[in-house]
Amino acid sequence: MTAPFHLQSGFSWPQGKRFAASLTFDVDAESGALAFDSTFHKRMSLMTHQHYGPTVAVPKLLALLAHHDIQATFYVPGYTADLYPDMVRSLVDAGHEIGHHGWMHEKTTALADAQEAEMLDRGLESLARVGVTPVGYRAPWWEYNYRTTELLLERGFRYDSSLLDGDVPYRFRSAQDAPGDLVEVPVDWAMDDWEQFAFYPEWTGSGVIESPTKALEMWSYEADVAAQAGNCWVLTNHPFISGRPSRLAALSELITHIKNLPGAWFATLEQIAEHTRTVVDEVRVHRRIPDPGPQPGQDPDGRPTSPVRDNL
Ligand code: ZN
Repeated sequence: MTAPFHLQSGFSWPQGKRFAASLTFDVDAESGALAFDSTFHKRMSLMTHQHYGPTVAVPKLLALLAHHDIQATFYVPGYTADLYPDMVRSLVDAGHEIGHHGWMHEKTTALADAQEAEMLDRGLESLARVGVTPVGYRAPWWEYNYRTTELLLERGFRYDSSLLDGDVPYRFRSAQDAPGDLVEVPVDWAMDDWEQFAFYPEWTGSGVIESPTKALEMWSYEADVAAQAGNCWVLTNHPFISGRPSRLAALSELITHIKNLPGAWFATLEQIAEHTRTVVDEVRVHRRIPDPGPQPGQDPDGRPTSPVRDNL
């Protein structure tokens, strides 16, 4: 495949590399379900479905990554680190990056300023108890708030990976005159295993469980295009979802496919973010859209008057 000229990103990757590829794993475990409905702690089968991630899937993932000699990035909610400290230590011992992923995988759009700060601090304290000081953040459900940048900079973070407006990393700050900046390593729902495989009755909603070969085909094609365009290919997987045997087998095939693409740079998001600081001078500010007011079909607060399917 040859990408048309207009698809070339023009981004400068390290010497000899033409694109970046990063495997990221969000170790939500029980927290993602409990943040949705805390009474789920009583549902033993659902808890085992989540518990599968840190206990059964992570050891297999570690073996897979060691086999391919790849360092990955694991985003770990504080609650997961508190429940499974030895699992987090095993990730650190294997040389993988640990990033912050909330405390209880909070619905961040529902948080007040002080609550979001407390969530960040609780997550940092939990990670500190297992010896980790993260430099990267990924908002639960990729829901980043306009105020989050300042909260992250105050706490020494270097990058985020929750926003959806880029094919390559970029630098940004909260306002033109604000001090400091973060690197964003953008994500994409087409590159997330949630939409392919996540199913649990009365929780995840969609009811669709795709074939691992379909996901392999989709993510391989994404990599082919990223390789041609010089983009940043970031896959987001969840151990409780993608740690199942057939999906791990497909992931292994996917890694082999990418390794065979010319100029592949397998890296952690921390490595990609630090590289970005060396080659990008421009620092962006996200434009805030003014409140357009209630629209037809919305109530006086601007909320939809007909039910919207909640897919989480
Ligand atoms: Zn998550």
